[in-house]
Amino acid sequence: MSNRKKLIVVGGGASGFFCAVNAAQQNPELDVLILEKTNKLLSKVKVSGGGRCNVTHYSEAVNDMIDAYPRGKNFMKKSLYRFSSQDTQNWFLIRGVQLKVESDGRMFPESDKSQSIIDCLMQEAEKYNVDIRMQHEVLHINKLESGFLLEVKHGMDAAEKIHADFICIATGGFSKEAGFDWLKELGIDIEPPVPSLFTFNILDNKLHQLMGVASADTIVKIPTLKLQERGPVLITHWGLSGPAVLKMSSRAAKELHELDYTFEVSVNWAPEFHESTMLELIKTKRIEIARQLVGNKNPFDIPGRLWNYLLEKSAIKPDTSWANIPSAASNLLAKHICNDVYNVKGKTTFKEEFVTAGGVKVDAIHQATLESKLIPGLYFSGEVLNVDGITGGYNFQHAWSSGWIVAEDITTKMTSVES
Ligand SMILES: Cc1cc2nc3c(=O)[nH]c(=O)nc-3n(C[C@H](O)[C@H](O)[C@H](O)COP(=O)(O)OP(=O)(O)OC[C@H]3O[C@@H](n4cnc5c(N)ncnc54)[C@H](O)[C@@H]3O)c2cc1C
Repeated sequence: MSNRKKLIVVGGGASGFFCAVNAAQQNPELDVLILEKTNKLLSKVKVSGGGRCNVTHYSEAVNDMIDAYPRGKNFMKKSLYRFSSQDTQNWFLIRGVQLKVESDGRMFPESDKSQSIIDCLMQEAEKYNVDIRMQHEVLHINKLESGFLLEVKHGMDAAEKIHADFICIATGGFSKEAGFDWLKELGIDIEPPVPSLFTFNILDNKLHQLMGVASADTIVKIPTLKLQERGPVLITHWGLSGPAVLKMSSRAAKELHELDYTFEVSVNWAPEFHESTMLELIKTKRIEIARQLVGNKNPFDIPGRLWNYLLEKSAIKPDTSWANIPSAASNLLAKHICNDVYNVKGKTTFKEEFVTAGGVKVDAIHQATLESKLIPGLYFSGEVLNVDGITGGYNFQHAWSSGWIVAEDITTKMTSVES
């Protein structure tokens, strides 16, 4: 009697492909089928990283990575011990795709083309006979005594029923909770989804005029949430963006959703100082560079256009000499440099990368295998899980690690069937 078993991977994205090709390679006795509801495969990989695909983040130790996951830190710790960023680099290298690291730790294919990653995964799928069907949407999963029966919609045809021994759900995140209904029907616990990785909208025409100004080292605070992030900030024609803002949006994704994206943000453009120490420094400068004009001499390393804007906001004319800054204006300047407050009203999706926070709760699965605690044989990988990272290659790393772990556990099960 044949020992052949069937794995159906639901979703033809990064995690689904990684699971499928590894499971197929490791198990010649396993038939692997990917069902993808759209007419595109690996579509996010294609557009990711501005078309370059930020495949992973360079790291030498697991502990260096885990802080980058606001949801699923402990989960990722275990996951990365099984399949790390280094494993991702090696996996692609063995298959002819060398990754390179940039100064901020982001890793891209040497070619700077996401197509290199797509070609590699497609070649692996072909090599190990992974069957792929596009425009096949899984609507329902019925648990049988042995295995599963999937109801699959293909175009206008009546729903087809396909049998599977194992299923890996790799559908990515859904922006609305209703997107998870078909999983809830199975008794799977879902954390309601909210968006992550977005920029802050601020209605302030004067700020918008600074569009394109980047401040390399800045502290952004949300006082009501007692949260702060340090890093580069970019001023855009709708508000604030840049790594510090994106990180904040990820860390506080849930809380900011609850605030309906209406909150106060305070920016410190000279993060080595507080308002009080800045005021002391301004007093010193009034003596040290007394005769110089404030518009010509900016001693705090603040970008020129931003400096002039902060002076204007503090009612200081650029042709005022440092000695002649009125003391009330000095107070205002210190405040605007170190505690520059804006009202945020709304958010804008970050064009390079957005993810869903929320999804299948990690408590609903065995974290060593990613198999459902409730339904043996049913696995979850990638963004469908309530695990997400900040920008920088962390989300794809989660997709690869989780896809790998599912493939490995299926291999263990296949081996125990054979012996
Ligand atoms: C524009 C953009 C750029 C990004 N850039 C980066 C980056 O450079 N680096 C990084 O680390 N992260 C990046 N991300 C995040 C990253 O792309 C995702 O975290 C990652 O793609 C998740 O992989 P996944 O396989 O879990 O889900 P997805 O890539 O979303 O794939 C899921 C697939 O499942 C299919 N599907 C859904 N429901 C069904 C169903 N019922 N039946 C059949 N198929 C179904 C979907 O159509 C989709 O093709 C970016 C995201 C975006 C949107």
